[in-house]
Amino acid sequence: MNMTIPGARVIDVRTSLPRHKTLRYGLRKLTDIRSAAMHHSATKSGSPEAFASYHVVKNGWPGIAYHFVIQKDGVIYWCNDPETISYHVGNSNRHALGICLVGDFRTQQPTAAQLESANHIIQHLQVQIPTMKQVFGHQEYPGYAWKNCPAFPMGTFRTNYSQFLQKAVGKVDKPKQVPVAIKLNEVLLPVAGFLQEGLSMLPVRAVANAAGGKVEWIEQTKDVRVNGKDLNEKVISGSAYAPARELATALGLQIEWDQATKTVRMMKGSVSK
Ligand SMILES: [Zn+2]
Repeated sequence: MNMTIPGARVIDVRTSLPRHKTLRYGLRKLTDIRSAAMHHSATKSGSPEAFASYHVVKNGWPGIAYHFVIQKDGVIYWCNDPETISYHVGNSNRHALGICLVGDFRTQQPTAAQLESANHIIQHLQVQIPTMKQVFGHQEYPGYAWKNCPAFPMGTFRTNYSQFLQKAVGKVDKPKQVPVAIKLNEVLLPVAGFLQEGLSMLPVRAVANAAGGKVEWIEQTKDVRVNGKDLNEKVISGSAYAPARELATALGLQIEWDQATKTVRMMKGSVSK
């Protein structure tokens, strides 16, 4: 998985963290992931190495519990492949991806840099893993109501994330382009398109992934196909964009344009007026 995130620093420590001599975590498909689980470390300070060592030596687990650890300075440490079924939310482990913010938020506050990085990584992961539709606190998983983790209010966290997303999809690389928001079945996607000569151009891979379409890249002709249909795409800094209507047709989706909010609404079945 590509973990280059504009606006955030990610350090890959997957192969350097302490792990169990023999035990290994199980693996899943990315499409098994349904939610991101937020944790605090419940320690005033700490590091991925220290947490991994604790989980392996003290708990006897195969490796660190979390997929990502976010330090107080906002640096994101990549600890486990998303496919790893690590131990952090009990019976929900198979469907959850663990993100831990360093700190004890019973007595401390997450830093602004940590919260900003949390927003960045969740947005990035939601683009790569469209089935990861939800963000919960550890405490919100079945059986964990007693656990004061992540010890910051998840309602506020989710509201901030929605606002971050709205702002993020309002920005497009090229300053002259008018950004276009994209809704699939009334859910705002964490990526933006742009207007070009009156046409909405949408990011092919992200939209097709979210809609469960198949994307092919034909190397010889430098063509992108979605569900076998050729598109009039345009490649901008490595990403293919295609006219919204063509993309919708290839994905078997209805489409509607909202001029007031510059939003393309795509949905299964017929569009309600
Ligand atoms: Zn937790």
